[in-house]
Amino acid sequence: MHGPIDPDLARQSKLPQNSILFQTFPFRIDVFGFCGMELNPASRAARLAPTSVGDINSSGLDCSHELRTLFHIKCANVFDRNRKSHCPGVYADEGFARGEQADIRTGKTERMKINEERLIGLFLDLCRINAPALQERRCVDWTRQYLEQIGLEVWEDEAGSRIGGNANNLIAKLPGNLPGAPRIYLSAHFDTVEPTEGLTIIERDGVFYSDGSTILGADDKAGMAPAIEAVQTILESGEPHGDVYLLLTCAEEIGLKGAEVLPIQDLEIDFGYVLDTGPPVGTFVTRTATHDKLHIEIIGRPAHAGKHPEEGINAIEVAARAIHGMRLGRIGPETTANLGIIQGGSATNVVCPSVTIHAEARSTNVEELNLQVDHMIQRFEQAASETGAVAKITHERHYDAYQIADDTQVVQVAQRASRALGLEPTLRTTLGGSDANVFNVRGVPSIVVATGMDKIHTHEEYVSREDLIKTAELALQIIREAAQEKRHVL
Ligand SMILES: [Zn+2]
Repeated sequence: MHGPIDPDLARQSKLPQNSILFQTFPFRIDVFGFCGMELNPASRAARLAPTSVGDINSSGLDCSHELRTLFHIKCANVFDRNRKSHCPGVYADEGFARGEQADIRTGKTERMKINEERLIGLFLDLCRINAPALQERRCVDWTRQYLEQIGLEVWEDEAGSRIGGNANNLIAKLPGNLPGAPRIYLSAHFDTVEPTEGLTIIERDGVFYSDGSTILGADDKAGMAPAIEAVQTILESGEPHGDVYLLLTCAEEIGLKGAEVLPIQDLEIDFGYVLDTGPPVGTFVTRTATHDKLHIEIIGRPAHAGKHPEEGINAIEVAARAIHGMRLGRIGPETTANLGIIQGGSATNVVCPSVTIHAEARSTNVEELNLQVDHMIQRFEQAASETGAVAKITHERHYDAYQIADDTQVVQVAQRASRALGLEPTLRTTLGGSDANVFNVRGVPSIVVATGMDKIHTHEEYVSREDLIKTAELALQIIREAAQEKRHVL
């Protein structure tokens, strides 16, 4: 089909060895371009001037004069009209190749764009594969095959056995071709909240919904499809770029479990982007909260409610005493707290012997968070001691906050990419968590990128065609902007 040119042929024809072997394309090439963004219009015209390339053997191909010119400028992107896709462009002059496409007849140039229909198709295919947390195997297998066909290096870690799921995190690498450029990642998660079984996707006015009986699962397929499409486009464009990894995780929705065990530190990544929050596209989460969990068990004493109620200690009453007057909900601009689950009791004629409560608190300010958690613990302990009950409390730091400064590479690249697409970037603080929390703790500066998905975790969840495309364009531009940076070697 196509590939590096035969070395003997390259020598004979003085072609760079990594040129595409055009002569074996089994189809007519009728649109093509070149790489060279940094050419100004004058030099562009000069470079585009038709030039003979000597002894290139172009038999078997409807080789036009212009195509020969491509050889002369040593770089090419080839667009196959029949397949509506780009063939991998290969170039020799790293110095100026930038993945721009030119119509040689007109001299008009344009950078390679994402393939919109392919992106939408990928998004819909991904949504249709049921993938609740810990049961992502089918989706992982399907995606693995897709990424291998693109030509990426793909492997899995050992997440499944470590977190009790049937699938692992999937890691794919597009090796860089630009020495010194940062190594970046794009990340999204496979799993969705339920229910998604029997999903029927409906498109209304360019917006995708479920039929209302399930969720859509755009969280996080609206991040995953654009990330994959961006990597595929950059690969096909032949543009220079650093190493680009896709980190596709499992079990995010049940507590960032896949990311927790993904060996990101082994990949020596410089920074990266988690595509996993709501619109508008152009928003980036650079500051998040620390999130604590509390598990409280109140142990009272059972007694027959009709015969000897005075001998019992009612755990429900103890809990009520603790909760009454407890500071909950929005504690301040940076802090929230919530009691989410309460369980206990066995029968109406038994004084309730025990109650368990699951609670959480979050804050972007760790001191405030500690104060809030202490307050909640103290309320339960006090109520227990006043009533003769016992309160067993476990406190767990679920994940740590991160705060990424505005002048860091990870933020600068995102902002430039956003502006290049005409989207004014917004930096957001959120109390929600994502895999970026984990990757930051592992030492890889990471921010969350907004996608178009909205009303997530509900049956009204949706994402528009336009926002999927915008997200993919942004991811592609992030790869391009990162390639303009230098790697900070530690
Ligand atoms: Zn998500």
